[in-house]
Amino acid sequence: MRSFPVGFIGNRFRLGGLAACILAALLAWFLFAGASDSPAPRKVRLVPDGDTLILEDGQLVRLIGINAPEADTPEGPAEPFGIEAREALRGLISLGPVVLERDREQKDRFGRTLAYVFLPDGSMANERMLAQGLAWALSISPNSRYTDRLLPVQQDAMIRAEGLWRAIPSLPGPFVGNARTKRFHDTACPHAQGISRKNRFPFQSLAQAFHQGHAPCKSCLHDRIMDAWKASLNLSPK
Ligand SMILES: [Zn+2]
Repeated sequence: MRSFPVGFIGNRFRLGGLAACILAALLAWFLFAGASDSPAPRKVRLVPDGDTLILEDGQLVRLIGINAPEADTPEGPAEPFGIEAREALRGLISLGPVVLERDREQKDRFGRTLAYVFLPDGSMANERMLAQGLAWALSISPNSRYTDRLLPVQQDAMIRAEGLWRAIPSLPGPFVGNARTKRFHDTACPHAQGISRKNRFPFQSLAQAFHQGHAPCKSCLHDRIMDAWKASLNLSPK
């Protein structure tokens, strides 16, 4: 009998053992690296409004990709559906600790942590607020990882006339949208003047602008739209 096959088989077994060790080590490394990458669930202490949380350690978190109407504050009364939005987010948060997922920027200019907030059942609070018509899509570049996922959820809520979308006010247009910033303006707004021809989009109605994922400019339209929204919701009670 030649010794070669025996030795060959033995080497193969030794190599097999070594490969298995390397694989096990790699697997352990991946599992460990994965565990350290996925953030631990965080407890929430307070929900001041429909797009903001305060964690147990005091950290202020702003939900990315949406804007909910303001709840009542010492500075002023609630915007339409502001209280409902806050109560809805409180309801979601009551399901248990949340996992935060970041986008490109960690904080906004007010020092708030920017995050997608995942609930214990794996759903995303940001998305669920849009689905209930208690917030609208607010894209802030470069934090746009889920823009393509969030906008269709809002569009669907608009079709179903959920929450705010039950009575979209019919403010007279046209409005001017900026495809780069995803904001729309009154045609007389100074911000509307500087939009390049390439990024400039006319909208005939608020519904059309919101449907395209544009949010109202804070300086020229936001307050006017909130007042009109309050009036149109009063005209069409639930
Ligand atoms: Zn404007």
